[in-house]
Amino acid sequence: MTVRTRIAPSPTGDPHVGTAYIALFNMAFAKSQGGQFLLRIEDTDQVRSTPESEQQILDSLRWLGLNWDEGPDVGGPHGPYRQSERSELYAKHSDELLEKGHAFRCFCTSERLDELRKQQEIDKEGSGYDGHCLHLTEASVQTKLAAGEPHVVRMKIPTEGTCKVQDMLRGEIEIDWKQVDMQVLRKADGLPTYHLANVVDDHYMEITHVIRGEEWINSAPKHILLYKYFGWQMPVLCHMPLLRNPDKSKLSKRKNPTCITYYRDAGYLPEAVLNYLGRMGWSMPDEREKFTLDEMIANFDLQRVSLGGPIFDQEKLSWLNGSWIRENLTVEEFGERLHNWLMNEAYISKFLPFAKERAAVFTDVAPMAAFMFSGMLDLKPEDFAHKKREEVDVRKVLQFALWRLEALRIWEKDNIFGEIKTLSKEMGLKIGDCMQPVFVAIAGTPNSWSVVDSMVILGPDMSRARLRHAVNVLGGVSKKEMKRLEKEFRDLGQDEA
Ligand code: GLU
Repeated sequence: MTVRTRIAPSPTGDPHVGTAYIALFNMAFAKSQGGQFLLRIEDTDQVRSTPESEQQILDSLRWLGLNWDEGPDVGGPHGPYRQSERSELYAKHSDELLEKGHAFRCFCTSERLDELRKQQEIDKEGSGYDGHCLHLTEASVQTKLAAGEPHVVRMKIPTEGTCKVQDMLRGEIEIDWKQVDMQVLRKADGLPTYHLANVVDDHYMEITHVIRGEEWINSAPKHILLYKYFGWQMPVLCHMPLLRNPDKSKLSKRKNPTCITYYRDAGYLPEAVLNYLGRMGWSMPDEREKFTLDEMIANFDLQRVSLGGPIFDQEKLSWLNGSWIRENLTVEEFGERLHNWLMNEAYISKFLPFAKERAAVFTDVAPMAAFMFSGMLDLKPEDFAHKKREEVDVRKVLQFALWRLEALRIWEKDNIFGEIKTLSKEMGLKIGDCMQPVFVAIAGTPNSWSVVDSMVILGPDMSRARLRHAVNVLGGVSKKEMKRLEKEFRDLGQDEA
Protein backbone atom coordinates (compact mmCIF):
# COMPACT_ATOMS: atom_id res chain seq x y z
CA MET A 1 0.00 0.00 0.00
CA THR A 2 1.29 3.46 -0.89
CA VAL A 3 0.76 5.92 1.91
CA ARG A 4 -1.17 8.97 0.71
CA THR A 5 -1.93 11.99 2.85
CA ARG A 6 -3.43 15.36 2.15
CA ILE A 7 -3.91 18.87 3.40
CA ALA A 8 -7.39 20.15 2.63
CA PRO A 9 -7.60 23.88 3.36
CA SER A 10 -10.74 25.94 2.93
CA PRO A 11 -9.85 29.18 1.13
CA THR A 12 -11.92 31.40 3.37
CA GLY A 13 -9.32 33.67 4.93
CA ASP A 14 -5.67 34.36 5.49
CA PRO A 15 -3.26 31.39 5.27
CA HIS A 16 -3.02 30.18 8.86
CA VAL A 17 0.07 28.78 10.59
CA GLY A 18 -2.16 25.91 11.76
CA THR A 19 -2.65 24.90 8.11
CA ALA A 20 1.13 24.92 7.57
CA TYR A 21 1.63 22.86 10.72
CA ILE A 22 -0.86 20.17 9.66
CA ALA A 23 0.50 20.23 6.10
CA LEU A 24 4.03 19.72 7.41
CA PHE A 25 3.09 16.66 9.47
CA ASN A 26 1.10 15.16 6.59
CA MET A 27 3.99 15.68 4.25
CA ALA A 28 6.62 14.41 6.70
CA PHE A 29 4.58 11.28 7.38
CA ALA A 30 3.89 10.52 3.71
CA LYS A 31 7.49 11.15 2.65
CA SER A 32 8.93 9.15 5.55
CA GLN A 33 6.85 6.22 4.30
CA GLY A 34 7.85 6.67 0.66
CA GLY A 35 4.34 7.91 -0.03
CA GLN A 36 2.61 10.88 -1.60
CA PHE A 37 1.22 14.09 -0.23
CA LEU A 38 -1.48 16.08 -1.97
CA LEU A 39 -3.29 19.36 -1.61
CA ARG A 40 -7.03 19.69 -2.09
CA ILE A 41 -9.00 22.92 -1.93
CA GLU A 42 -12.22 22.55 0.07
CA ASP A 43 -14.27 25.43 -1.25
CA THR A 44 -17.76 24.08 -0.62
CA ASP A 45 -18.57 27.28 1.26
CA GLN A 46 -19.16 29.32 -1.86
CA VAL A 47 -19.95 32.49 0.05
CA ARG A 48 -16.74 32.67 2.05
CA SER A 49 -14.29 31.04 -0.37
CA THR A 50 -12.22 33.34 -2.57
CA PRO A 51 -9.62 32.72 -5.29
CA GLU A 52 -7.33 35.26 -3.56
CA SER A 53 -7.36 33.25 -0.37
CA GLU A 54 -6.64 30.05 -2.31
CA GLN A 55 -3.68 31.70 -4.04
CA GLN A 56 -2.31 33.00 -0.75
CA ILE A 57 -2.54 29.56 0.82
CA LEU A 58 -0.65 27.95 -2.07
CA ASP A 59 1.96 30.74 -2.15
CA SER A 60 2.61 30.71 1.57
CA LEU A 61 2.92 26.93 1.81
CA ARG A 62 5.37 27.04 -1.07
CA TRP A 63 7.28 29.87 0.58
CA LEU A 64 7.76 27.55 3.54
CA GLY A 65 9.20 24.92 1.23
CA LEU A 66 6.26 22.53 1.31
CA ASN A 67 5.51 20.84 -1.98
CA TRP A 68 2.71 18.53 -2.96
CA ASP A 69 2.68 15.73 -5.50
CA GLU A 70 -0.86 16.47 -6.64
CA GLY A 71 -2.96 19.59 -6.34
CA PRO A 72 -5.02 22.21 -8.18
CA ASP A 73 -1.92 23.96 -9.49
CA VAL A 74 0.17 20.89 -10.39
CA GLY A 75 -2.61 18.51 -11.45
CA GLY A 76 -2.47 14.76 -10.96
CA PRO A 77 -4.40 11.59 -11.75
CA HIS A 78 -7.15 12.11 -9.17
CA GLY A 79 -8.23 15.65 -10.08
CA PRO A 80 -9.84 18.05 -10.16
CA TYR A 81 -8.42 19.04 -6.78
CA ARG A 82 -10.88 21.83 -6.10
CA GLN A 83 -14.19 20.72 -4.63
CA SER A 84 -16.20 23.33 -6.51
CA GLU A 85 -15.23 21.42 -9.68
CA ARG A 86 -16.46 18.07 -8.39
CA SER A 87 -20.13 18.85 -7.64
CA GLU A 88 -21.53 16.09 -9.85
CA LEU A 89 -19.61 13.44 -7.98
CA TYR A 90 -21.07 14.56 -4.65
CA ALA A 91 -24.60 14.79 -6.05
CA LYS A 92 -24.29 11.23 -7.34
CA HIS A 93 -23.18 10.01 -3.93
CA SER A 94 -25.87 11.80 -1.99
CA ASP A 95 -28.42 10.25 -4.37
CA GLU A 96 -26.86 6.87 -3.69
CA LEU A 97 -27.31 7.34 0.06
CA LEU A 98 -30.95 8.34 -0.48
CA GLU A 99 -31.58 5.26 -2.61
CA LYS A 100 -30.00 2.96 -0.08
CA GLY A 101 -32.06 4.52 2.72
CA HIS A 102 -29.02 5.90 4.58
CA ALA A 103 -30.12 9.49 4.08
CA PHE A 104 -33.40 11.38 3.89
CA ARG A 105 -34.75 14.59 2.48
CA CYS A 106 -35.51 17.26 5.05
CA PHE A 107 -37.97 20.02 4.17
CA CYS A 108 -37.83 21.84 7.51
CA THR A 109 -37.74 25.60 7.15
CA SER A 110 -35.10 27.69 8.87
CA GLU A 111 -37.90 29.17 11.03
CA ARG A 112 -38.79 25.71 12.30
CA LEU A 113 -35.14 24.88 12.98
CA ASP A 114 -34.69 28.17 14.88
CA GLU A 115 -37.77 27.39 16.97
CA LEU A 116 -36.44 23.92 17.65
CA ARG A 117 -33.09 25.32 18.78
CA LYS A 118 -34.74 27.80 21.12
CA GLN A 119 -37.00 25.16 22.59
CA GLN A 120 -34.06 22.82 23.13
CA GLU A 121 -32.26 25.59 24.98
CA ILE A 122 -35.27 26.20 27.23
CA ASP A 123 -35.76 22.47 27.89
CA LYS A 124 -31.99 22.07 28.31
CA GLU A 125 -32.34 19.09 26.01
CA GLY A 126 -29.55 18.07 23.65
CA SER A 127 -29.14 20.09 20.49
CA GLY A 128 -29.37 18.86 16.94
CA TYR A 129 -32.04 17.95 14.46
CA ASP A 130 -35.07 16.17 15.94
CA GLY A 131 -35.78 13.85 13.01
CA HIS A 132 -39.00 15.61 12.01
CA CYS A 133 -38.69 14.63 8.32
CA LEU A 134 -37.17 11.23 8.98
CA HIS A 135 -40.45 9.39 8.63
CA LEU A 136 -42.14 11.28 5.82
CA THR A 137 -43.89 8.84 3.50
CA GLU A 138 -42.55 8.45 -0.01
CA ALA A 139 -45.80 9.94 -1.32
CA SER A 140 -45.52 13.11 0.72
CA VAL A 141 -41.84 13.49 -0.23
CA GLN A 142 -42.87 13.25 -3.89
CA THR A 143 -45.63 15.83 -3.42
CA LYS A 144 -43.23 18.26 -1.79
CA LEU A 145 -40.66 17.69 -4.49
CA ALA A 146 -43.25 18.24 -7.21
CA ALA A 147 -44.25 21.48 -5.49
CA GLY A 148 -40.60 22.56 -5.62
CA GLU A 149 -40.21 22.82 -1.84
CA PRO A 150 -36.60 23.55 -0.92
CA HIS A 151 -34.93 20.78 0.99
CA VAL A 152 -31.62 19.42 2.20
CA VAL A 153 -30.37 15.83 2.44
CA ARG A 154 -29.43 14.60 5.90
CA MET A 155 -27.67 11.43 6.91
CA LYS A 156 -29.28 8.88 9.20
CA ILE A 157 -27.57 8.30 12.53
CA PRO A 158 -28.01 5.31 14.86
CA THR A 159 -30.19 6.24 17.84
CA GLU A 160 -28.36 4.05 20.32
CA GLY A 161 -24.91 2.85 21.26
CA THR A 162 -21.52 4.40 20.79
CA CYS A 163 -19.18 4.93 17.91
CA LYS A 164 -15.65 3.73 18.45
CA VAL A 165 -13.15 5.98 16.74
CA GLN A 166 -9.65 4.54 16.32
CA ASP A 167 -7.09 7.29 16.42
CA MET A 168 -3.43 6.70 15.69
CA LEU A 169 -2.31 8.87 18.60
CA ARG A 170 -5.20 8.61 21.02
CA GLY A 171 -6.18 4.97 20.68
CA GLU A 172 -9.91 4.24 20.90
CA ILE A 173 -12.25 7.18 21.50
CA GLU A 174 -15.90 6.41 22.26
CA ILE A 175 -18.54 8.89 21.18
CA ASP A 176 -22.20 8.38 21.99
CA TRP A 177 -24.33 8.27 18.84
CA LYS A 178 -26.86 10.41 20.70
CA GLN A 179 -24.35 13.26 20.52
CA VAL A 180 -24.07 13.00 16.75
CA ASP A 181 -26.36 15.19 14.67
CA MET A 182 -28.22 14.06 11.56
CA GLN A 183 -25.73 15.97 9.49
CA VAL A 184 -26.80 17.85 6.39
CA LEU A 185 -24.88 16.31 3.48
CA ARG A 186 -26.39 18.28 0.64
CA LYS A 187 -27.56 21.86 1.04
CA ALA A 188 -30.70 23.35 -0.47
CA ASP A 189 -28.64 24.74 -3.37
CA GLY A 190 -27.59 21.18 -4.25
CA LEU A 191 -23.98 21.66 -3.11
CA PRO A 192 -22.40 19.28 -0.61
CA THR A 193 -21.35 20.11 2.92
CA TYR A 194 -17.80 19.55 4.11
CA HIS A 195 -18.58 16.08 5.51
CA LEU A 196 -19.85 14.51 2.30
CA ALA A 197 -17.30 16.15 0.00
CA ASN A 198 -14.42 15.35 2.33
CA VAL A 199 -15.24 11.65 2.62
CA VAL A 200 -15.99 11.20 -1.09
CA ASP A 201 -12.74 12.92 -2.03
CA ASP A 202 -10.58 11.10 0.49
CA HIS A 203 -11.92 7.86 -0.95
CA TYR A 204 -11.44 8.71 -4.63
CA MET A 205 -8.09 10.37 -3.99
CA GLU A 206 -7.01 7.15 -2.27
CA ILE A 207 -6.05 8.83 0.98
CA THR A 208 -4.74 6.24 3.41
CA HIS A 209 -4.12 8.47 6.45
CA VAL A 210 -6.17 11.47 7.47
CA ILE A 211 -3.98 13.66 9.68
CA ARG A 212 -5.83 16.75 10.85
CA GLY A 213 -6.44 19.01 13.83
CA GLU A 214 -8.18 17.69 16.93
CA GLU A 215 -11.13 20.04 16.34
CA TRP A 216 -12.34 17.43 13.84
CA ILE A 217 -12.60 14.52 16.31
CA ASN A 218 -16.33 15.05 16.76
CA SER A 219 -16.83 14.74 13.02
CA ALA A 220 -15.17 11.35 12.94
CA PRO A 221 -18.35 9.32 13.77
CA LYS A 222 -20.18 10.88 10.81
CA HIS A 223 -17.29 10.10 8.53
CA ILE A 224 -16.93 6.54 9.81
CA LEU A 225 -20.63 6.02 9.16
CA LEU A 226 -20.40 7.46 5.66
CA TYR A 227 -17.56 5.06 4.81
CA LYS A 228 -19.72 2.23 6.09
CA TYR A 229 -22.77 3.37 4.11
CA PHE A 230 -20.72 3.52 0.93
CA GLY A 231 -18.96 0.23 1.71
CA TRP A 232 -15.52 1.85 1.47
CA GLN A 233 -12.30 1.17 3.34
CA MET A 234 -11.80 3.71 6.11
CA PRO A 235 -8.48 5.62 6.13
CA VAL A 236 -6.46 5.69 9.35
CA LEU A 237 -7.37 8.73 11.47
CA CYS A 238 -4.91 10.85 13.37
CA HIS A 239 -5.96 13.99 15.20
CA MET A 240 -3.09 16.34 15.98
CA PRO A 241 -3.05 18.59 19.06
CA LEU A 242 -4.02 22.20 18.39
CA LEU A 243 -1.44 24.96 18.48
CA ARG A 244 -1.80 27.23 21.51
CA ASN A 245 -0.96 30.78 22.56
CA PRO A 246 1.60 31.11 25.36
CA ASP A 247 -1.34 31.41 27.81
CA LYS A 248 -2.49 27.93 26.60
CA SER A 249 -5.63 29.23 24.87
CA LYS A 250 -6.22 28.08 21.29
CA LEU A 251 -3.88 29.93 18.92
CA SER A 252 -5.78 32.94 17.70
CA LYS A 253 -5.09 36.17 15.93
CA ARG A 254 -6.35 38.02 19.01
CA LYS A 255 -3.17 37.06 20.82
CA ASN A 256 -0.61 36.14 18.18
CA PRO A 257 -0.09 36.83 14.51
CA THR A 258 -1.41 33.66 12.88
CA CYS A 259 -0.99 34.46 9.22
CA ILE A 260 1.91 32.73 7.46
CA THR A 261 2.52 35.81 5.33
CA TYR A 262 3.05 37.83 8.51
CA TYR A 263 6.14 35.76 9.26
CA ARG A 264 7.40 36.16 5.71
CA ASP A 265 6.86 39.93 5.76
CA ALA A 266 8.27 40.31 9.27
CA GLY A 267 11.59 38.92 8.07
CA TYR A 268 11.61 35.32 9.26
CA LEU A 269 13.41 32.61 7.32
CA PRO A 270 11.06 29.97 5.93
CA GLU A 271 13.35 27.15 7.06
CA ALA A 272 13.26 28.49 10.63
CA VAL A 273 9.47 28.78 10.66
CA LEU A 274 9.15 25.26 9.28
CA ASN A 275 11.67 23.98 11.83
CA TYR A 276 9.67 25.65 14.61
CA LEU A 277 6.41 24.13 13.36
CA GLY A 278 8.15 20.75 13.27
CA ARG A 279 8.84 21.14 16.97
CA MET A 280 5.19 21.66 17.83
CA GLY A 281 4.48 18.52 19.80
CA TRP A 282 7.24 16.60 18.05
CA SER A 283 10.95 16.19 18.62
CA MET A 284 13.88 14.57 16.86
CA PRO A 285 15.03 11.27 18.40
CA ASP A 286 18.17 13.08 19.67
CA GLU A 287 16.08 16.08 20.82
CA ARG A 288 18.11 18.55 18.77
CA GLU A 289 16.40 21.91 18.35
CA LYS A 290 17.43 22.66 14.81
CA PHE A 291 16.64 20.51 11.83
CA THR A 292 15.78 20.82 8.16
CA LEU A 293 12.70 19.42 6.47
CA ASP A 294 14.77 16.59 4.98
CA GLU A 295 16.18 15.72 8.40
CA MET A 296 12.69 15.75 9.85
CA ILE A 297 11.46 13.40 7.13
CA ALA A 298 14.45 11.07 7.58
CA ASN A 299 13.74 10.79 11.33
CA PHE A 300 9.97 11.06 11.29
CA ASP A 301 7.84 8.91 13.53
CA LEU A 302 4.26 10.00 14.05
CA GLN A 303 4.12 8.15 17.33
CA ARG A 304 6.55 10.71 18.74
CA VAL A 305 3.84 13.39 18.60
CA SER A 306 2.87 14.28 22.14
CA LEU A 307 -0.68 15.33 22.85
CA GLY A 308 -0.06 18.20 25.29
CA GLY A 309 -1.07 21.37 23.42
CA PRO A 310 2.09 22.71 21.74
CA ILE A 311 2.73 26.40 22.40
CA PHE A 312 3.43 28.65 19.47
CA ASP A 313 5.61 31.29 21.05
CA GLN A 314 6.84 34.07 18.81
CA GLU A 315 9.78 34.84 21.06
CA LYS A 316 11.07 31.29 20.79
CA LEU A 317 10.54 31.37 17.06
CA SER A 318 12.55 34.61 16.86
CA TRP A 319 15.32 33.04 18.88
CA LEU A 320 15.39 30.02 16.56
CA ASN A 321 15.34 32.29 13.53
CA GLY A 322 18.35 34.19 14.87
CA SER A 323 20.17 30.97 15.39
CA TRP A 324 19.49 29.95 11.78
CA ILE A 325 20.84 33.29 10.61
CA ARG A 326 23.97 33.08 12.73
CA GLU A 327 24.80 29.43 12.27
CA ASN A 328 23.42 28.42 8.90
CA LEU A 329 23.96 31.36 6.58
CA THR A 330 27.27 32.69 5.32
CA VAL A 331 27.58 36.48 5.24
CA GLU A 332 27.00 36.32 1.47
CA GLU A 333 23.88 34.24 1.87
CA PHE A 334 22.64 36.51 4.63
CA GLY A 335 23.25 39.51 2.36
CA GLU A 336 21.40 37.91 -0.50
CA ARG A 337 18.41 36.90 1.61
CA LEU A 338 18.27 40.32 3.25
CA HIS A 339 18.50 42.03 -0.11
CA ASN A 340 15.64 39.97 -1.52
CA TRP A 341 13.50 40.75 1.48
CA LEU A 342 14.33 44.44 1.61
CA MET A 343 14.30 45.19 -2.09
CA ASN A 344 10.89 43.77 -2.67
CA GLU A 345 9.70 46.07 -5.41
CA ALA A 346 6.07 45.13 -5.17
CA TYR A 347 6.14 46.13 -1.50
CA ILE A 348 8.22 49.26 -1.82
CA SER A 349 6.14 50.59 -4.69
CA LYS A 350 3.17 50.76 -2.35
CA PHE A 351 4.60 53.56 -0.24
CA LEU A 352 6.95 55.22 -2.79
CA PRO A 353 4.31 57.81 -3.77
CA PHE A 354 4.04 58.94 -0.14
CA ALA A 355 7.81 59.08 0.36
CA LYS A 356 8.29 61.03 -2.88
CA GLU A 357 5.93 63.74 -1.68
CA ARG A 358 7.92 64.19 1.52
CA ALA A 359 11.58 63.70 0.61
CA ALA A 360 13.92 66.59 -0.18
CA VAL A 361 16.91 64.29 -0.57
CA PHE A 362 17.21 60.51 -0.67
CA THR A 363 18.64 60.39 2.84
CA ASP A 364 15.21 61.48 4.09
CA VAL A 365 13.66 58.27 2.87
CA ALA A 366 15.23 55.62 5.11
CA PRO A 367 14.19 57.30 8.39
CA MET A 368 10.67 58.08 7.24
CA ALA A 369 10.13 54.57 5.85
CA ALA A 370 11.87 52.69 8.65
CA PHE A 371 8.55 51.68 10.22
CA MET A 372 7.58 49.97 6.96
CA PHE A 373 10.49 47.56 7.50
CA SER A 374 10.19 47.09 11.25
CA GLY A 375 8.62 44.53 13.52
CA MET A 376 7.52 45.94 16.87
CA LEU A 377 8.46 49.62 17.26
CA ASP A 378 10.59 50.99 20.05
CA LEU A 379 7.83 53.03 21.74
CA LYS A 380 7.64 54.83 25.07
CA PRO A 381 4.49 55.97 26.88
CA GLU A 382 5.50 59.62 26.27
CA ASP A 383 5.27 59.05 22.53
CA PHE A 384 1.50 59.01 22.90
CA ALA A 385 1.30 62.39 24.65
CA HIS A 386 -0.63 65.05 22.81
CA LYS A 387 -0.72 68.70 23.92
CA LYS A 388 -3.89 69.95 22.32
CA ARG A 389 -6.06 67.03 23.14
CA GLU A 390 -7.99 66.74 26.37
CA GLU A 391 -7.16 63.81 28.54
CA VAL A 392 -8.47 60.62 26.94
CA ASP A 393 -7.68 57.11 27.95
CA VAL A 394 -5.31 56.37 25.09
CA ARG A 395 -4.86 52.76 26.10
CA LYS A 396 -8.60 52.22 25.94
CA VAL A 397 -8.82 53.84 22.52
CA LEU A 398 -6.08 51.54 21.25
CA GLN A 399 -7.63 48.44 22.78
CA PHE A 400 -11.04 49.26 21.31
CA ALA A 401 -9.52 50.05 17.91
CA LEU A 402 -7.74 46.71 18.09
CA TRP A 403 -10.97 44.85 18.79
CA ARG A 404 -12.78 46.55 15.97
CA LEU A 405 -9.94 45.75 13.59
CA GLU A 406 -9.74 42.15 14.74
CA ALA A 407 -13.32 41.68 13.62
CA LEU A 408 -12.74 43.34 10.26
CA ARG A 409 -12.87 40.80 7.46
CA ILE A 410 -11.90 42.92 4.49
CA TRP A 411 -8.66 44.78 5.11
CA GLU A 412 -9.13 47.78 2.87
CA LYS A 413 -8.59 51.48 3.35
CA ASP A 414 -12.23 52.56 3.55
CA ASN A 415 -13.17 49.75 5.90
CA ILE A 416 -10.29 50.43 8.27
CA PHE A 417 -11.05 54.13 8.32
CA GLY A 418 -14.76 53.37 8.78
CA GLU A 419 -14.00 51.27 11.86
CA ILE A 420 -11.97 54.01 13.52
CA LYS A 421 -14.49 56.67 12.61
CA THR A 422 -17.36 54.65 14.04
CA LEU A 423 -15.34 54.01 17.17
CA SER A 424 -14.63 57.69 17.72
CA LYS A 425 -18.31 58.47 17.25
CA GLU A 426 -19.37 55.79 19.69
CA MET A 427 -16.81 56.90 22.25
CA GLY A 428 -17.85 60.52 21.84
CA LEU A 429 -14.36 61.55 20.75
CA LYS A 430 -13.06 63.60 17.87
CA ILE A 431 -11.72 61.41 15.07
CA GLY A 432 -8.25 62.87 15.71
CA ASP A 433 -8.35 61.63 19.30
CA CYS A 434 -8.69 58.10 18.01
CA MET A 435 -6.40 58.49 15.04
CA GLN A 436 -3.44 60.03 16.82
CA PRO A 437 -2.64 57.08 19.12
CA VAL A 438 -3.23 54.66 16.25
CA PHE A 439 -0.76 56.70 14.21
CA VAL A 440 1.88 56.45 16.93
CA ALA A 441 1.26 52.73 17.44
CA ILE A 442 1.63 51.99 13.72
CA ALA A 443 4.24 54.52 12.54
CA GLY A 444 5.97 55.47 15.78
CA THR A 445 5.10 59.14 15.20
CA PRO A 446 2.01 61.12 14.28
CA ASN A 447 4.00 62.87 11.53
CA SER A 448 3.91 60.23 8.86
CA TRP A 449 1.78 59.68 5.78
CA SER A 450 -1.79 58.45 6.12
CA VAL A 451 -1.86 55.81 8.81
CA VAL A 452 -4.70 53.98 7.12
CA ASP A 453 -2.58 53.59 3.99
CA SER A 454 0.26 52.33 6.15
CA MET A 455 -2.02 49.78 7.77
CA VAL A 456 -3.16 48.51 4.39
CA ILE A 457 0.47 48.11 3.30
CA LEU A 458 1.63 46.53 6.56
CA GLY A 459 -1.31 44.12 6.53
CA PRO A 460 -3.74 43.07 9.26
CA ASP A 461 -1.44 40.90 11.37
CA MET A 462 1.40 43.42 11.62
CA SER A 463 -1.01 46.31 12.24
CA ARG A 464 -2.81 44.45 14.98
CA ALA A 465 0.46 43.26 16.52
CA ARG A 466 1.64 46.87 16.72
CA LEU A 467 -1.61 48.03 18.32
CA ARG A 468 -1.31 45.21 20.85
CA HIS A 469 2.31 46.18 21.48
CA ALA A 470 1.28 49.81 22.04
CA VAL A 471 -1.32 48.74 24.61
CA ASN A 472 1.45 46.87 26.42
CA VAL A 473 3.83 49.83 26.22
CA LEU A 474 1.11 51.86 27.92
CA GLY A 475 1.01 49.42 30.81
CA GLY A 476 -1.07 46.59 29.35
CA VAL A 477 -4.52 45.51 30.49
CA SER A 478 -4.93 43.31 33.55
CA LYS A 479 -7.37 40.37 33.43
CA LYS A 480 -9.82 42.20 35.66
CA GLU A 481 -9.64 45.38 33.66
CA MET A 482 -10.05 43.37 30.47
CA LYS A 483 -13.46 42.12 31.63
CA ARG A 484 -14.55 45.68 32.39
CA LEU A 485 -13.26 46.96 29.05
CA GLU A 486 -14.93 44.13 27.16
CA LYS A 487 -18.25 45.05 28.71
CA GLU A 488 -17.77 48.73 27.96
CA PHE A 489 -16.82 47.85 24.39
CA ARG A 490 -19.92 45.68 23.98
CA ASP A 491 -22.13 48.46 25.32
CA LEU A 492 -20.69 51.03 22.91
CA GLY A 493 -23.08 52.02 20.20
CA GLN A 494 -26.00 50.32 21.98
CA ASP A 495 -27.75 53.68 22.40
CA GLU A 496 -27.92 54.17 18.67
CA ALA A 497 -29.02 50.64 17.91
N1 GLU B 1 -11.41 21.82 5.04
C1 GLU B 1 -11.09 21.38 6.36
C2 GLU B 1 -10.28 22.49 7.02
O1 GLU B 1 -10.36 23.58 6.59
C3 GLU B 1 -10.33 20.08 6.29
C4 GLU B 1 -10.43 19.24 7.52
C5 GLU B 1 -9.88 17.84 7.25
O2 GLU B 1 -8.65 17.74 7.13
O3 GLU B 1 -10.66 16.91 7.13
O4 GLU B 1 -9.58 22.34 7.98
